[in-house]
Amino acid sequence: MLMENLYYFSELQMLDCNMYVLKDENEKLCLIDLGNGLSMKPLINTLEQYDLNPKNISKILITHEHLDHIMGIYPLMEMLKDNPPEIFAHPYTADLLEEGDENKIVPQMFGVDAKTFGINVVPIKNITRINENDELKIGSFDLSVIYTPGHSKGSISFYELNNKILFPGDVVFPQGSFGRYDFPGCSLNDLKKSISRLADLDTIMLCSGHMPPVEKDAKNQIARSKKNINWM
Ligand SMILES: [Zn+2]
Repeated sequence: MLMENLYYFSELQMLDCNMYVLKDENEKLCLIDLGNGLSMKPLINTLEQYDLNPKNISKILITHEHLDHIMGIYPLMEMLKDNPPEIFAHPYTADLLEEGDENKIVPQMFGVDAKTFGINVVPIKNITRINENDELKIGSFDLSVIYTPGHSKGSISFYELNNKILFPGDVVFPQGSFGRYDFPGCSLNDLKKSISRLADLDTIMLCSGHMPPVEKDAKNQIARSKKNINWM
């Protein structure tokens, strides 16, 4: 638990991502990112240990379209099919998930296929498209959406205004590091611009897609990332 109503689930070893859970006043849960599919079962077990009911997952926010952040959607939607959560993503990510083309969701360059993760890719319908300036309220958390391309085309960051928490997906990481820019769909220039924007925010806590969260003074670490990427 990072703070009241905010939980962190660290990534597994191989091609996975951190997942974050926000709880609202009605015990409804909002999940930020979904991991690689293999990590969904451990997540569900851990939720139960914390007295969080997985059936109360009512919202899913996706930071970007990479497989280590989205594959968990398939087992999760299967599990919650009687009462499916609302899914929020950038239009690029939403199109990809709605189309459900396995070759695009699990590109061959990663040297894995959906079966590696026990996943059956199917089209996911009714995704709510979000983009720059949209705002989402999850209990006491007020999230503002920032479009931050560069690591991928569909990358968005969530900035929580009341507690100054940043969820940047893979755009920026702790300790002055930053997202890869050598995949298809990446742009080093866009990544520089995106990190520059995130560096301007007054961020206390940094909850990235990989590496353990930074719980205070995160703004300094993002400033280091900005400095480092500008050397590239
Ligand atoms: Zn990524």
